[in-house]
Amino acid sequence: MGKEKLNLLCCCDVAVAGGGVAGIAAALAAARQGADVVLLEKQCVLGGLATSGLVTVYLPLCDGRGNQVSYGLAEELFRLSIRYGAQRKYPRAWLEGGTKEERIAKRYEVQFNPVYFQLLAEKLLKEAGVRICYDTLVSQVIMEEEKRTGASGETAQNTEKKIEGLIVETVEGRGVIRAGCFVDATGDARLLRMAGAQVHRYEKRNILAAWYYDVSDGRLHLNMLGTVEESDCMSKERHTDEPLSSRRFGGMSWEDNSQFLQLAHEQMIFDMDRKRKENADFEAALIPAMPQLRMICRVEGEASLRSEDRERYLPDSIGMAADWRRRGYVYEIPFGCLRAPGFPNILAAGRIISVQEDMWEVSRVIPACAVTGQAAGIAAVLYSREEQIDLVKLQEYLRGQNQILHFREING
Ligand SMILES: Cc1cc2nc3c(=O)[nH]c(=O)nc-3n(C[C@H](O)[C@H](O)[C@H](O)COP(=O)(O)OP(=O)(O)OC[C@H]3O[C@@H](n4cnc5c(N)ncnc54)[C@H](O)[C@@H]3O)c2cc1C
Repeated sequence: MGKEKLNLLCCCDVAVAGGGVAGIAAALAAARQGADVVLLEKQCVLGGLATSGLVTVYLPLCDGRGNQVSYGLAEELFRLSIRYGAQRKYPRAWLEGGTKEERIAKRYEVQFNPVYFQLLAEKLLKEAGVRICYDTLVSQVIMEEEKRTGASGETAQNTEKKIEGLIVETVEGRGVIRAGCFVDATGDARLLRMAGAQVHRYEKRNILAAWYYDVSDGRLHLNMLGTVEESDCMSKERHTDEPLSSRRFGGMSWEDNSQFLQLAHEQMIFDMDRKRKENADFEAALIPAMPQLRMICRVEGEASLRSEDRERYLPDSIGMAADWRRRGYVYEIPFGCLRAPGFPNILAAGRIISVQEDMWEVSRVIPACAVTGQAAGIAAVLYSREEQIDLVKLQEYLRGQNQILHFREING
């Protein structure tokens, strides 16, 4: 297929692929730095797993010891998700000036309504000037010719691979989006994989999940079938269930994903039948529009989030995330987690960032996705303007967008 035959749909400073929480944060952060931003989403709503996937529990912004650790867009999107009311777990102690003891007793988390979050996120992005392109599937990357950098002469060895544009499938057929810098917020590192970056799949593979909503007794109710997998470090406060099935899913196979959805649907019908018999008011309301796979693929970055860095000061931190499974585990996220070596104009955001396998549970959840999305968005703007990312500027702009970067800056 020749590039020249394709319709150029648009040129922009920053193109964000994927409109989940990470993509929303990246696009918003980039637009607020004054960039021309395009957000490409294959579905017709925003929010990804958090909304279309019906994963509507915004896990904690705090460390479980009464300190908030994730700020900036992680907090702004949290508040946005419950602007029209929380569904469950309203964190009064955090939002209405509770005492430290109250903030320790109840973590800063909430359950939100996915429909309101989808609509409010779209409104917020539009107000910031982001061009949202729904029903737009990124199917290929167009790479620039490889450039050698580093020492001059015959020994110049580092190869830089840059994306020049994205090929997208839309109602008009195939087209091209050009940008100065790209954010991969696809949830499965689609851009980075297509560009040739090194990635890691989730070797252990996912358990089956079948979360769905019903309306009973006049209220929306989330049924969390396949809640979460038991792990050694999970505190007793967190609920776990027996797995729904012994089968596991990697999320990288077309057939496997269809099987995942169909098995999940079977579980839902089974559960609905039981509940309908128990409660005459029961009505099914919403089922997920994407497979509820927690971990699929993450990039091998210039740095990785590591368990040994718990509460450690990292000079290149772009924000913090807490371990939702247990109290007192906080991590600064180094900027290198968002960059694949040799791919200067692609930033990773959300559940695909570079982490040690055992830290994926921390990086994949909604607050961490918002933190990394925000940093990726600002970094992408810097790259689109200067062809490099100055860490000092990135951190300054993050602070300007209300992010707190280091644990020691928090009044405990
Ligand atoms: C069963 C389950 C339970 C969970 N429980 C919780 C929980 O309680 N609390 C919590 O905080 N987190 C939870 N999570 C994790 C969390 O919901 C997700 O990891 C997080 O929302 C991921 O955000 P993201 O933006 O990185 O990716 P995604 O939400 O996956 O967003 C990626 C977006 O990119 C789009 N996209 C993908 N490929 C393309 C393409 N080629 N072209 C265009 N668009 C594309 C997708 O449609 C999607 O909208 C859970 C996850 C699962 C599966």
